[in-house]
This record gives sequence, C-alpha cells and structure tokens, in this order.
Amino acid sequence: MKDSNKSSKLIFEERKAIILFLWLFNLIFFSWDIFYYYCRPYFNGAALSDSRDGLGLWVYVILVGVLFAAIYYIKVGNIYIVKYLYIISFLIIDIIDNLVRYIGTTEHFATGNIVEVLLVIFSPIFVNKKYFWTVSIGLIGKDLLLGLILQDLNVLPPVLIYITISVLAYVLLIRFYSYINSLTTVYEELRQKEKLAVIGQMAAGIGHEIRNPLSSLRGFTQLQQERYPNTNDYYPIMIQEIDRINSIVNDLMYLGKPRVIHFEKASIEEIIAYTLSITQQQAERQGVTVETIMAGPLPPLDCDEKQLKQVFINLIKNSIESMSQGGRIKIKVNVLEKTKMSVSIQDEGCGISDENIHNLGEPFFTTKTDGTGLGLMVTNQIIKEHLGVLNINSECEKGTRVEVILPIIHS
Ligand code: ADP
Ligand code: MG
Repeated sequence: MKDSNKSSKLIFEERKAIILFLWLFNLIFFSWDIFYYYCRPYFNGAALSDSRDGLGLWVYVILVGVLFAAIYYIKVGNIYIVKYLYIISFLIIDIIDNLVRYIGTTEHFATGNIVEVLLVIFSPIFVNKKYFWTVSIGLIGKDLLLGLILQDLNVLPPVLIYITISVLAYVLLIRFYSYINSLTTVYEELRQKEKLAVIGQMAAGIGHEIRNPLSSLRGFTQLQQERYPNTNDYYPIMIQEIDRINSIVNDLMYLGKPRVIHFEKASIEEIIAYTLSITQQQAERQGVTVETIMAGPLPPLDCDEKQLKQVFINLIKNSIESMSQGGRIKIKVNVLEKTKMSVSIQDEGCGISDENIHNLGEPFFTTKTDGTGLGLMVTNQIIKEHLGVLNINSECEKGTRVEVILPIIHS
C-alpha cells in the first residue's frame, strides 16, 4: 500500500517535470527559430524564402510528431521515456539538419537553437543522473561530431559553453540529491522511532500484566515438581519455557521504557566468564567451543554490569545459533587508545547476507523459526546508552565478527 502510494507520487512528480519540460522546450525552440530565421532576416531586409535551409520546415513537422508521440506516452503511462525520446530525437534531427545545411558549402557552422542551453540548465529538474549525463554528453558529443565531419573549429565555443553550464547544472543536481537523501534518512529515523514507540506502549501495557501471572505459574510448577518427584518428566521443560516467555517479555519491556543505568566499575573478565557460564550448556549441545583471549591485565570498566551481561549473552547466543554444525567462537578483549575497551566475538557460522545486514536491529527481524528478532535491538540500545559502538562484519557461509567498543571511563 505504502509502496504503490510512493510510486504514484513519484510518477506525479515526473509528470509535472515533463509537462514543464514540454512547454519550455517547444516555446523556446519555436520562438527562437521564428525569431532567428524569420524575424531577424526581415529586419535585416533579407529574402524570406531561403531563410531556413537544412531540413527546412521538415524540422517542425518532425518535432510536432515527437510532441504527439510524447503526449501519447504520457497518456499510456510510459512517462519515464518521454525525456529521453525528446533529447535523442532532437540530437538526431539536429545532426542531420546541420549536415544537410553545411556539407558541400563553404559556409561556417553557426550555433544552433538556444533551446540546447536550456536543455542543459533544466536537466536537474528530473533529479536523474542518467538523464543529466545523456543531455550533456549528447550535446557536447553532437557538436564535436559535427566539427569533425565538417572540419570546422566553430563548434568549439558552444562546446565550451555546454561544458561550463553542465558543471553548474551538475552542482545543482548533486545538491538536490543530497537534500533528498537527508529527507529520506530523517523520514526513516522517524518511522523507526514511531515503530519503537508503539512497541514500547504495547510492551509496557501487556508486559506488566504478563509478568505477575508468569511468576506464580513458575512458582507453582516448581512446587508441583517437588511434590511429585516421580512424575516430573515435563516440569523442567515447562520451567524452561516459562523462563523463555519471561525473557521475551523482559526484552519487550526494555524497549518500552529505557531504564536508568547505574554505572559502576566492573571487571570485564568476570562479565565474560558469567556470560560463558550461562551459554555453556547450549554451546556444548551444539558442539561449539569458545576460546577467550584477553590482552594482558584489563582496567575496570565503567558500566551497568547486569545490562552488559545481557549484551554478551545475546551476542554469544547468536553466534552459537549460527553454527548448527558446531565450530569455534573466538572472543578477544583488548584496550584501544587507552580509553576504550573492545570486545570482539568471531564465529564460524552461517553469516548474514547483504540484504539482511540492513535489517539487523529492526524490531522483530529474525531469520530463525523460534527467534524473536529483539536480541540485537536490545543489545544496540544498551550499547548506545553506554556511549559505545556496535560493529558487525559478516560473510555468508564464512562467519560473523561482532565488535563492541565501549568507553572505559564515563565522565
Ligand atoms: P534472533 O536471535 O531472535 O533472531 P537477533 O536480534 O538476536 O534476533 O538477531 C537477528 C538476526 O540477525 C538473526 O535472526 C540472524 O539472522 C542474524 N544474526 C545475528 N547475529 C548473527 C550471527 N552471529 N551469525 C549469523 N546471523 C546472525
Ligand atoms: Mg538473538
């Protein structure tokens, strides 16, 4: 719905541009031609009959034909080719017109219609680089070609003028592009924020209601397990699943209301060791080994320990989950520029495809059948609150390297 809306708006924009273009082109082309070939000789006292040679009146007939073709294409909705139709027809007509006019005569080449200058100046109105290059290279190439065939240096002044105007038009075009890019980015950010706000409200409302009954459910299940120790096959699974629901609710609630962070000095070695103890079971089950490399004694890190543990649990879990056939995870911790701590987690898993890498961090984006698509999002948020950065590099079928860079001291 949104997409078709957007494209119909873009078509509408193109339509406005092409109508402006048709008016300008025809108005300027015909007034210039009439002025140049009919009014000017009249004032100069020349005879009217031989005032427009070359293709003569055929030029007008062909251009009116092109105009009808353009109107036809606009009507049938093939609007994007109209500008190319015009510029290409114009170039061809002009080359033939000039060749017919000058070949076999001693006359020197004279600059053509002023509409050529306008074609270049107005090329940015389509906000289309391909069209811009077609116009400027087309016009410059046309004059150079004529110069070559006619062996006439008179083509050089218009070529120089077109180059100068092309540079100016290019600057305009780039400005348009950059402005549109910024608008798109701002719009994307807004959309993301809105999405988060909606999830947040939902989470705050529902999450709270779910957590209380969930904790009584867990308590009673545990009680049942203790009371009937002989029939407890399913109890551990039930408790495990309840914990899973709880962690999803926690993730959702985290997004809902950003919590106050308590910065305290903590040991990164301990945080990593804790994280590994939590994920160890899952790693063993999948035949994943973990190697940790700490670069010398590490300074204490200013952080919210509980939340950082959450970050590394999420990242290491993702790495384990990416290696269904087993493999190795390398965790490296070192100090960068004395002020930052870098923790990188490298796996040998399935990697992330180029198209998916843009979606990372979008709420609910997941490629797993039982994934929530919230892990990276929460991770990102916590790292941002720590004024840190999260870098992800991935190669399909080779593995992924995730690096967390955090400032060691918060002032
Ligand atoms: P979830 O783990 O619930 O799917 P995440 O936000 O943690 O949600 O991750 C989102 C997606 O990013 C995953 O579904 C997966 O496709 C991709 N991903 C994240 N980390 C890795 C990794 N280390 N290797 C391969 N893919 C990954
Ligand atoms: Mg995950």
